[in-house]
Amino acid sequence: MAFTLGIHESVDLIFPPTVLRDALDPDDGADAADSDDGSEVRVVGSAAELEACDALVTFAYEDAFLSAGLSWIHSIQAGVDRFPFDELESRGIRLTNSTGIHGDAIGETVLGYMIQFARRLHRYRDRGRDGEWKHPEWDEPFTLSGESLCVVGLGTLGRGIAARADACGMEVVGVRRTPTPVDHVREVYTPGEIEAAVADARFVAVATPLTEETRGLIGADELAAMPESAYLLNVSRGGVVDETALLAELENDRLAGAALDVFETEPLPRDSPFWGFEDVIVTPHAAAATRDYYRRIADIVRENRRRAVAGESLVNQVI
Ligand code: NAD
Repeated sequence: MAFTLGIHESVDLIFPPTVLRDALDPDDGADAADSDDGSEVRVVGSAAELEACDALVTFAYEDAFLSAGLSWIHSIQAGVDRFPFDELESRGIRLTNSTGIHGDAIGETVLGYMIQFARRLHRYRDRGRDGEWKHPEWDEPFTLSGESLCVVGLGTLGRGIAARADACGMEVVGVRRTPTPVDHVREVYTPGEIEAAVADARFVAVATPLTEETRGLIGADELAAMPESAYLLNVSRGGVVDETALLAELENDRLAGAALDVFETEPLPRDSPFWGFEDVIVTPHAAAATRDYYRRIADIVRENRRRAVAGESLVNQVI
């Protein structure tokens, strides 16, 4: 069965659309890569181009997707909070996401945040811009070994983070909806027990999806339950953390610092106070970035294209 797969031009925010197209049709470098049965992979942007597609791989969501006659949309992100679930469902459009592929990249990024804070590397980098040679206070630097980490959300991201922290000799606890054991995690708490879970943490890493249940999950009470020496690390979605409450904690020195990859408003506005703290690391929603990203997306999409053509259920199906 001929099947036309569109790659929406919005994926360009993460990688060139053509590298994914070529990975899905490696024998053809042209804009529309034809296969023997007439199936195609093409880079699309306009409504007319969308209408020629059976399925779409995309970063962005646009309302035009709803009326284009698509049977399946694949999000190149794990988080699908920008998609209108009810509208897709009522039109019979299946939605798949890219969960399962970010554990290594995010795990390394979060380990990097923790090493920077513990070893004060971010401070040396800042001071180096002014040629400033300055030792830290004697009691400022610490080692990760023996320090504690609480991972909130123990899916692909959370497990990637926990495995690396455990390898560094950290004490890892976690929060998940079902408090069953997870490798590399000494103790698992339920969402209702977050305050107890973070009470002894030097680092709290947030790695849940943004859902109705998790919006504001880390609010004033949870932040207040963290020790003053603790760092908050958010790689999930901005809305999972109450930014106003976090700012208040940072401004009042009620937290040691934060590493934030995701925000309520992205790009983070130039006048955001988050830019102004010495011990806040801002990364531009890039914690999962890797030059191999498109290959991992291609693996999921290739399998789901096969399944879609065969009339089978899809992997990573959200709707
Ligand atoms: P996943 O589905 O593998 O894991 C999510 C985990 O969170 C699941 O184990 C789920 O049970 C758990 N969870 C859900 N609600 C919870 C709650 N109330 N309390 C505790 N745990 C809860 O997804 P993933 O691939 O690990 O990604 C998680 C989220 O991280 C994505 O939805 C996305 O929003 C975000 N993300 C961000 C980046 C980035 O670039 N910063 C990259 C990938 C994913």
